[in-house]
Amino acid sequence: MAKKVVVIGGGIIGLCSAYYLQKEGHQVTVIDKSSMDAGASYVNAGYLTPSHIIPLASPGMISKGLKYMFNSASPFYMKPRLDYDFLKWAWAFKKSSTPKKVDKAMPLIRDINLLSRDLYDELKTDIAFKDFHYERKGLLMYFQTQKEGDHEIKVAESAKRLGLASSILDMEGISKVETGISVNALGAVHYHCDGHTTPLNFMKLLKANLTKNGVKILKNEAVIDFKITKDKIKSIQTTTTNYHFDEVVLATGSWSGNLAKKLKLDLRIQAGKGYCIDELNPTNITMPAILLEAKMAVTPMIGFTRFAGTMEFSGINHQINKKRVNAIADGAKRFYNGLQINRASSANASCGLRPVSPDGLPYIGRVKHLNNLSIATGHAMMGWSLGPATGKLIAELISDKVTSLNISSYSPLRTF
Ligand SMILES: Cc1cc2nc3c(=O)[nH]c(=O)nc-3n(C[C@H](O)[C@H](O)[C@H](O)COP(=O)(O)OP(=O)(O)OC[C@H]3O[C@@H](n4cnc5c(N)ncnc54)[C@H](O)[C@@H]3O)c2cc1C
Repeated sequence: MAKKVVVIGGGIIGLCSAYYLQKEGHQVTVIDKSSMDAGASYVNAGYLTPSHIIPLASPGMISKGLKYMFNSASPFYMKPRLDYDFLKWAWAFKKSSTPKKVDKAMPLIRDINLLSRDLYDELKTDIAFKDFHYERKGLLMYFQTQKEGDHEIKVAESAKRLGLASSILDMEGISKVETGISVNALGAVHYHCDGHTTPLNFMKLLKANLTKNGVKILKNEAVIDFKITKDKIKSIQTTTTNYHFDEVVLATGSWSGNLAKKLKLDLRIQAGKGYCIDELNPTNITMPAILLEAKMAVTPMIGFTRFAGTMEFSGINHQINKKRVNAIADGAKRFYNGLQINRASSANASCGLRPVSPDGLPYIGRVKHLNNLSIATGHAMMGWSLGPATGKLIAELISDKVTSLNISSYSPLRTF
């Protein structure tokens, strides 16, 4: 049965939800408080990453956070603050950082990533997405020290046990794969399962496709409250209007915690800020790569090379920390011989907020107390990769279909 559905939030998760919902025949409206042209879904590294099987909450991360706390150029930062929501989230993050929990999360992360990558493959074959920039060259993880290399090789072995293939490359091997520029690294792990894209290109195509297929997109309109009667959201209040819908999808990224409170839901989520520098001059970099010691990503996109990195937990703000931006540029120069990053490119760096759940799994599913609400958020470092899978699962839920994956582990009601 066709339903009137509102998707709150027009990032990759909201738009992919709208895409699969309209394909199921629902009448869909997307509401976003911004002009929908900036933020995490635009500044990300564009990777599709089945290889990223280890969640952020893993053994050693809390001590790394403490170590980096007073280093203003560090790639990982947790701003110490007496904010109850942050403290609750940090406690859940710590509890999730055990080897047992990480082992449990790995196959779940793989499964949803593989589903999503298959859906990206499918989209690429759709004529409406013929200009979609999507390449499947895999992802290189460069290391400059044996310690970092040994660690990554162990991760690759775990990935192999989960069926994700990789090769270990020495310096000569790297030069055969990255033919455009000389790389200063001891070696690399080449994961073959990953792909890369250009986020702005896909977001534009997706918005155009939604509009063409009758999805209403309301920009610059914030949802500020809800009217709840018994077990339903009766109406939603925006900055301008009061709307009635059959179904509500909450896909508001890092802002989801506050809206969830209005829906009597304790959704633990924190914003993990990341930066990107786009270099418009040719860099000759041909392969997407993670520079392990610098903890940053490099992606050859259409018309520019993107350098992205840092995970900064300092609340919801878009302040740009120049020291961290410069650390990204310096990190890249240490790995690529002769690489030039213009001062103007660094000066124009932008940032986005990753919606980070404590255990590295997204929140996808229904809640018990409101039977017309679905949650689609908390994707942290993998939201770009997981957009299509999340959208498909949400559309299946709302259409009362069997979901493509068992989603019980992604429940927004799970405890930590
Ligand atoms: C530097 C960086 C690199 C990254 N690299 C990768 C990568 O390579 N691969 C990968 O898979 N992921 C990557 N990510 C993560 C990925 O970008 C995010 O997980 C993803 O974009 C989150 O999408 P979202 O739709 O949940 O949130 P967002 O894109 O933040 O969208 C949420 C939307 O909700 C709207 N909103 C909020 N509150 C309201 C309200 N009250 N009313 C109406 N609208 C509201 C906001 O305006 C926003 O548009 C990266 C992120 C960063 C920052």
